[in-house]
Amino acid sequence: MNYRHAYHAGNFADVLKHLVLTLIIEHMKLKPAPFRVIDTHAGIGQYDLASTEAGKTGEYVDGIGRLINARLTPAASKVIAPYLDVVKSMNSGVDLNVYPGSPALVRHLLRRDDRLLVNELHPEDHAVLKQRFDCDPQTKVMQIDGWTAVKAVLPPKERRGVILIDPPFEIAGELDRLVAAISDIAARFATGTALLWYPIKDERDITGFHRNVQRLGVPKILNISMMVRDFGLDAGLPGTGLVVLNPPFTLAETMRTVVLPELTKILSQGPGTSHAITWLAGER
Ligand code: SAM
Repeated sequence: MNYRHAYHAGNFADVLKHLVLTLIIEHMKLKPAPFRVIDTHAGIGQYDLASTEAGKTGEYVDGIGRLINARLTPAASKVIAPYLDVVKSMNSGVDLNVYPGSPALVRHLLRRDDRLLVNELHPEDHAVLKQRFDCDPQTKVMQIDGWTAVKAVLPPKERRGVILIDPPFEIAGELDRLVAAISDIAARFATGTALLWYPIKDERDITGFHRNVQRLGVPKILNISMMVRDFGLDAGLPGTGLVVLNPPFTLAETMRTVVLPELTKILSQGPGTSHAITWLAGER
């Protein structure tokens, strides 16, 4: 396990993923019944942007660093506000020093009776995460294989919730594991919402991945993707993708008309910028 999220925290992929996660949670909060958020690959919870790791790549500068200073349309500003409010609440003054990982972001958004379950396998990162939430009665911290966690913790006791699957993609076959996870989620928690992240590096891999997701026969699967530059310009990441099972009914339209056109403009790193919203599976 070599991947450390501290090098990438706050980059354009985090921005899109954390924004969509926020929109899903805000939608859940429209009903009073408590829910649970499950984060199978959680990282350390929040990130110091002045750290050696963040400074080495500087990825956050072209991610949250751009968004936080951007002039947004009123409509986009309203939709993005709950996410940016969390980031701003963790930073005093004008400097951007701290970025919330998915655990800190979710924890800021929860109500008193909602719950968070975070899982991280890396021993050092797990220790940091455990310490961060040690005294928090609403958060449980686990250290098992995230793919096993999908089966072990579903369905949540509340029967309402969101599962985030955000693997590091450092070993081959993780797109196939996402497909298997979608099948497991649909079998154990058919009414739940799931958010799964994947990197876009090779167009053919992604086409094959989407086809395999479609073959599962699981209903209501939305795909959201954003390219910030052309394929193959360098070894870095040109695009980011999200698969959402049972998305809030407003999500596709909000992303298509309000959020993605703005975000793509703000986060563009050169020619080849684009975004897409497609249903991999509609309602049955
Ligand atoms: N979800 C986090 C966020 O948005 O802030 C970022 C997670 S990062 C992309 C992936 C994390 O998965 C890393 O912290 C890595 O140590 C952890 N990881 C790698 N393999 C794992 C496994 N099999 N089970 C659980 N966690 C794993």
